[in-house]
Amino acid sequence: MAAQMYGSNEIQRLQRIFQRAYSDAKYPQITTHYTVIPRETDSRWKDVNLERYVDETDILIVGGGPGGLSAAIQARRLAEKHGKELRVTLVEKASTIGGHILSGACLDPVALNELFPNWKELGAPLNTPVTEDKFAFLTEKKRISIPIFKGMPMYNHGNYIVRLGHVVAWLGEQAEAAGVEIYPGYAAAEVLYHEDGSVKGVATNDVGIAKDGSPKDTFERGMELHAKCTIFAEGCHGHLTKQLSKKLNLRKDCEPQTYGIGLKEVWEIEPSKHKPGAVEHTVGWPLNRNTYGGSFLYHLNEETPLVAVGFVVGLDYTNPYLSPFKEFQRFKQHPSIRPTFEGGKRIAYGARALVEGGFQSIPKLQFPGGCLIGCTAGFLNVPKIKGTHNAMKSGMLAAESVIEAIIDAENNIPPTKGLEPKTYTDKIRNSWIYKELKAVRNMRPSFHSSLGLYGGLTYSGFS
Ligand SMILES: Cc1cc2nc3c(=O)[nH]c(=O)nc-3n(C[C@H](O)[C@H](O)[C@H](O)COP(=O)(O)OP(=O)(O)OC[C@H]3O[C@@H](n4cnc5c(N)ncnc54)[C@H](O)[C@@H]3O)c2cc1C
Repeated sequence: MAAQMYGSNEIQRLQRIFQRAYSDAKYPQITTHYTVIPRETDSRWKDVNLERYVDETDILIVGGGPGGLSAAIQARRLAEKHGKELRVTLVEKASTIGGHILSGACLDPVALNELFPNWKELGAPLNTPVTEDKFAFLTEKKRISIPIFKGMPMYNHGNYIVRLGHVVAWLGEQAEAAGVEIYPGYAAAEVLYHEDGSVKGVATNDVGIAKDGSPKDTFERGMELHAKCTIFAEGCHGHLTKQLSKKLNLRKDCEPQTYGIGLKEVWEIEPSKHKPGAVEHTVGWPLNRNTYGGSFLYHLNEETPLVAVGFVVGLDYTNPYLSPFKEFQRFKQHPSIRPTFEGGKRIAYGARALVEGGFQSIPKLQFPGGCLIGCTAGFLNVPKIKGTHNAMKSGMLAAESVIEAIIDAENNIPPTKGLEPKTYTDKIRNSWIYKELKAVRNMRPSFHSSLGLYGGLTYSGFS
């Protein structure tokens, strides 16, 4: 594009101007973050004590979402079953468990049933079984209903509409009751390695650093958590998972990961319009047929008449002027959607990224010293927009495998200091997660055919 606007001489001239501008000492540096200017060479850090306190645990879990918490609960249970007193420690960057979870979701309870067959008696906040399922194709003014049959991604009978933040907070309570040590408000910022290259644990973030990168009076060094095995459960596009992928080459044999953005709002609507248990999905307008995305709308059964509404857009859209947020707002103006919200009030909103690569983009899952679970491993069922059940199940399988590795290391000398959960990948391959993701593996790629959305819909119908 730049080459079309300017000749190559002009580009070189602009490059020289920028280089001069940024190398000139009178211009302030944009960032002095220690990853850009190492602290050893930064005089402002000269007398600051950078020693870190170290704590040793047995199993460390990074991330307190549905995946991490399920792993933690299962690890404590299995340790107890085998008569082992093992420390299970979980760090979560949100200040409370569930604090970073985007609420209003449709939950497939298959993994929850396995983890807590008695979840109803335990008071799990699943208050709204799905009672009505609708799927439609929208044009600017019209709505064309599409029938949903059992087995189709949009078939939701048997699922529950939940406030996912509440479910995760409840899982946090169960984890604490099971003896998991939970540290909310601590972001794991760095992966630590043994000399043999295996994962040793993580370091939490330093706090009290000014915007210009200098230490404030309140500066406090993060701490190191060392573990026999570390389970990474950071959710989509995990910060440490990226470090691991690079260092351990975890993505060498898979397709690149792709992403979407999901925007969600929770509305309190007029009671007369509220249909607890109703689920609606749409595709089509306001997106064109070459842009992947669609909407969801869930009526929750809580004390007040709540509706969760959301819009997902694949981040491979070709129109650079498209704004997913504005498309979401336009969607709510559709003649068949707008009446639900008239007279209502938006009480919460948020946005998060989703992994969309599916089966083909699953990286190497285990390595000496740890493994990846949930959305950081890419276990989202893309056409269903559901990943909670897979995150939970993968956490449970990881816990099984980690406990096996710890027991094995008591009898045989392990090849590395950080223990590799050697059976984890096979457990995933033999589980329903793998079958489920494999079955829908071509649905997202089918949108890239010349038929765009119509190709995707046809494929979904036939499969
Ligand atoms: C718009 C949208 C709609 C969705 N709808 C549904 C739905 O209806 N049904 C469904 O089943 N799924 C749905 N999903 C997907 C679902 O949210 C995820 O699949 C699920 O939350 C994955 O669980 P997880 O434990 O792997 O990760 P997450 O739930 O993302 O949890 C990761 C946790 O780790 C913490 N964390 C991350 N990095 C660090 C770090 N370095 N240190 C410490 N803590 C860290 C985060 O704060 C977070 O609490 C939706 C997702 C989006 C974006």
